[in-house]
Amino acid sequence: NDRIHLQVHLTRYGNSEHLMVVRDVTRLHLLEQMRKDFVANVSHELRTPLTVIAGYLETLLENVDQVNPRWQRPLLQMNQQAGRMQHLLNDLLLLAKLEATTYPSNNQPVAVEPLLQSIRSDAQALSADKNHRITLEADAELQLKGSENELRSAFSNLVFNAVKYTPAGGEIHIHWWCNEQGAHLSVQDNGPGIEAKHLPRLTERFYRVDSSRASSTGGTGLGLAIVKHVLLRHQGRLDINSTPGKGSTFTCHFQSSQIARL
Ligand code: ADP
Repeated sequence: NDRIHLQVHLTRYGNSEHLMVVRDVTRLHLLEQMRKDFVANVSHELRTPLTVIAGYLETLLENVDQVNPRWQRPLLQMNQQAGRMQHLLNDLLLLAKLEATTYPSNNQPVAVEPLLQSIRSDAQALSADKNHRITLEADAELQLKGSENELRSAFSNLVFNAVKYTPAGGEIHIHWWCNEQGAHLSVQDNGPGIEAKHLPRLTERFYRVDSSRASSTGGTGLGLAIVKHVLLRHQGRLDINSTPGKGSTFTCHFQSSQIARL
């Protein structure tokens, strides 16, 4: 690995003068690569033992009436925490995979409307006793070039977040459309909203607005980082608009060159 990484900043002064600053960031780049490899390896190594633990817990819970009553509650809690850990490892591995390459694993046209229909029905099941009204307005002929799996991860993270953070009875609207600027997917909710000071940091790994509230919702803090990476790989970007007390709108913008039509 004998590549050199340079960071170049060019600033323009007046009409004819420029200032160019060149920084050697090779070491920084190497450290960042070591961090990524470490996280990916640890996540991978932890997955097998955790699968074994979760498997035994599941077997015990299938016969929970034969278990000493004193152990029933702890077993349920262990099972719940094992599930959280599996969710976290899956998200870490997905993020590591997304960071390892620049382009999506596939570049075929993806039928976005059926994908959103299926995410909507999963979200309705997740909403269960919170009884949200989840509506979908989608251009059925508008398709996007890319990886269906990656787009599913990104879009479902946005819709499931709306379900997680919006209180019972709330409204969630999913909109998929295009105009001269490109194709757009927005997920709008009338939940608690997010203060402006948090917005620039929301897509960082593990960043959460209110960690006590966020941990009770069972999230990993990696969802929006995954969304950001998937969008980057599809020449897209994420826009977040939010008003505390009123709700939030997360919009994914894609360039026209990514559009495919039926
Ligand atoms: P998490 O797994 O905690 O949901 P995310 O990366 O998906 O992690 O989101 C980061 C944080 O952004 C969340 O912890 C939450 O505080 C905030 N957030 C995300 N979506 C919404 C939303 N629809 N309404 C309010 N807050 C949200």
